[in-house]
Amino acid sequence: MFKTQRAKVTIRCNICGEKFTLRGRREPGGQVETGFKQCLCDNDKHFSFNES
Ligand SMILES: [Zn+2]
Repeated sequence: MFKTQRAKVTIRCNICGEKFTLRGRREPGGQVETGFKQCLCDNDKHFSFNES
């Protein structure tokens, strides 16, 4: 049984431009939880998120 919706999210670091493609789990509030913590450059705040 798969009740949680899965979503693919592209996260781009606004500091160094690195891109990460992650699969996440959609929360009831509409946000996608990917478990992503921080970029390789230690940035953990400034990101662009794109759901696909
Ligand atoms: Zn970065």
